[in-house]
Amino acid sequence: RLKEGRALAEDVWSIYNAANLPADCINLGQGYMNFAPPQWVTEAANTALQGVTENHYSHPKGRMRLRQALKNQYSPLFNRELDVETEILVTSGANEGQYSVFVAFLETGDEVIMFEPFFDQYLPSITFNGGKPVYVPLHPPKSDLKKPTSNDWTIDLAELRAAITPRTKMIIVNTPHNPVGKVFTREELEGIAALAEEFNLIVMSDEVYDCLTFDGQEHVRIATLPGMWDRTVTVGSAGKAFAATGWRVGWLIGPASIIRPTLAATTRIVFCTNSPLQEAAAAGLEQADKRGYFATQRAEYTERRKILTDAFDALGLTYSLPLGSYFILLDISKVKFPDNYPFPQSVLGRGRDFKACWFIALEIGVSSIPVSEFYCEEHASIGEVFARFAFCKDTDTLNRAAERLQKLK
Ligand code: GLN
Repeated sequence: RLKEGRALAEDVWSIYNAANLPADCINLGQGYMNFAPPQWVTEAANTALQGVTENHYSHPKGRMRLRQALKNQYSPLFNRELDVETEILVTSGANEGQYSVFVAFLETGDEVIMFEPFFDQYLPSITFNGGKPVYVPLHPPKSDLKKPTSNDWTIDLAELRAAITPRTKMIIVNTPHNPVGKVFTREELEGIAALAEEFNLIVMSDEVYDCLTFDGQEHVRIATLPGMWDRTVTVGSAGKAFAATGWRVGWLIGPASIIRPTLAATTRIVFCTNSPLQEAAAAGLEQADKRGYFATQRAEYTERRKILTDAFDALGLTYSLPLGSYFILLDISKVKFPDNYPFPQSVLGRGRDFKACWFIALEIGVSSIPVSEFYCEEHASIGEVFARFAFCKDTDTLNRAAERLQKLK
């Protein structure tokens, strides 16, 4: 299985890793912050490190304090009293949680539908477990739109229906979406939900950017739509919520029928998630609302987003204004670079966007991620016109990046 397709190729995060780029290159590539978690969260981490049980294995379901904090935070959002024993599972990052769902549910040849572009990790996670990815397009904004937003990327429910076969096991929903930033509307999610019900499919809803929606956009959880709780597992992440992507603390919320087998998988993969940072994530959730933390964070990200969009406007380049997540897709089809530029081996032989991103990183000093990686090999050319810029950085850094990017003129 590891020999198939891109599985053994160097992944995009490693190619554009800060370690491979000049030290002074501003990193707007992989989505992580260049600032620390809030102090009241890191203090909880420090305290946990002084403890005894906090430094040892936690229950594979997760430490009770975190499960309790998740229950308190999410029960109102799911319109139900979540059960800390059967409906919440702490995982070693969202990635591992998703992987464990695939381990638990996929049989060889089972098909998993995802909207394309998709977060790259889904593809190998499915194929490593014998599944077959099936792609349904997220259609890019119509080219005559002057100021497209991420929500001008659209789905066609007829195409989704046509992709369903007797082997379809699961649909992946990702809202807010990486890399597009789309926040799926209630109507779109109702359409997906109706098909999931009609064909008895599991929905894996990756909502790791749930705290990052902008311009009053409502984050709708597909699990809360009528009849959907029983077939949906929702994925969450402390990394995005508390600027702590290296903690590898995530969670799954769903019915016991999905959490129970997934717990069995996660127990055998990692046994449990690191204990001290579960305490810190719990402290974060316990205090976030009373500190107005998520509202402040949304306002800060709105400001960060504007620094980049102003820079792109000044350049006259097209982008989709993201209504969620911390990524902006920029149309780089007009960005020129010499064909004979000394590209590294990992970039040669990949799409035009890989070269453009490499050139922009080395010559302009700002890194980004080529978007063809978020398409299957067959459809990669659709993604080649975009580079993804992350704005989860402090405003000084974004201002410096914005200034450098003007050299693209
Ligand atoms: N979610 C992060 C991003 O899209 C990176 C994830 C990863 O490194 N696998 O940038």
